[in-house]
Amino acid sequence: MKYAISSVEQASIDIDGSKELFPVRRIYCVGRNYRAHAIEMGADPDREAPFFFMKPADAIVQNGSTIPYPTQTSNLHHEIELVVAMGKGGASISKENALDHVWGYGVGIDLTRRDIQNKAKESGRPWDMGKGFDNSAPCTAIRPVSDIGHPDTGKGAIWIKVNGEIRQESTLDLHIWNTAETINYLSSLCELQPGDLIYMGTPDGVAAVVSGDIMEGHIDGVGDLIITIA
Ligand code: MN
Repeated sequence: MKYAISSVEQASIDIDGSKELFPVRRIYCVGRNYRAHAIEMGADPDREAPFFFMKPADAIVQNGSTIPYPTQTSNLHHEIELVVAMGKGGASISKENALDHVWGYGVGIDLTRRDIQNKAKESGRPWDMGKGFDNSAPCTAIRPVSDIGHPDTGKGAIWIKVNGEIRQESTLDLHIWNTAETINYLSSLCELQPGDLIYMGTPDGVAAVVSGDIMEGHIDGVGDLIITIA
């Protein structure tokens, strides 16, 4: 096969303790998967099921990176999230078998141009430019299930500091939909494939970052993420 233009590189993310890379196929994100965050965004967590949106695979950013402050926003928000890395694909995967499809986990930030997203919400337009922009998906090296098990089955801490100050702090058991339930529902909408990532949704406390800020994210048993805004 010969392409008419120079072909696109496979997006990938590091694997903890390995020289191999985890290829990134699609990045799915869960919306409003923590009650307290749904409430802070003006939604009713009891009436609304979580929903999905996407980021392009090449929005992925390696741990330790410095990224530019994005264009066309003056309200860039951090959302600290557990990232699920799929090792096996499938359609309509049962809850019982869902975790067998997971290869590993990472610590991610769903960076959001909140001003663009809010305008899109008001006008009923798509969220893509608020969520799926360049460098919008930082993530740590993936740690395999064989090393760490399934963090979402426990009460591990998830937090993010900006310039050393805690902004978001919660636990993984407070996901409205856990990893198995999310894979079950998402795979009923789209056939999942190896290399898909799922950003699992953020707790409350989302807030703005500006140029020069240093974001440090942590999830117990999964890792530590550090990203600087240039
Ligand atoms: Mn999010």
